[in-house]
Amino acid sequence: MQIDDGKVVLFHYYLREHGGELIEQTHGDDPVAYLHGHNNIPIGVEKGLSGKTAGDKFTITVPPEEAYGVPIKNSVQRVPLKHLQCHGKPKVGNIAQVTTEQGPRQVVITKVGKFNADVDFNHPLAGKTLEFEIEVVNVREASADELQHSHAHGTGGHAH
Ligand code: ZN
Repeated sequence: MQIDDGKVVLFHYYLREHGGELIEQTHGDDPVAYLHGHNNIPIGVEKGLSGKTAGDKFTITVPPEEAYGVPIKNSVQRVPLKHLQCHGKPKVGNIAQVTTEQGPRQVVITKVGKFNADVDFNHPLAGKTLEFEIEVVNVREASADELQHSHAHGTGGHAH
């Protein structure tokens, strides 16, 4: 089955900065599951996966515009500490999560005060050209529920 809109795709990947070190990978863990055509993953990765089938292995290079965006100016905002989710105490340089009207965003903490923190809304990988080494594990039809929710359920997807 070929990857196309409305298919649920499971894949493993190695992610590197172009010509650089390994940033993250899924091998040894569950593969990632996403619903094709629903903006679940960066557009450049989705384009690379389009038309592929289970068992395909390939490497794609994705420019910032099709990955995590180009860094925006004035991306630092002050948020109440209680709206910041992070592991342990908030520290400068650490990544935290802030829930926005557009959903959860990963931010980098740039300053910590008593009640507020300054956070940078640029994704840590913004501005970087990325290399994804991908292995397609499985391709299947999405269920009616998944299409309605615009994301994949089950292993590697949303658990609810
Ligand atoms: Zn759902």
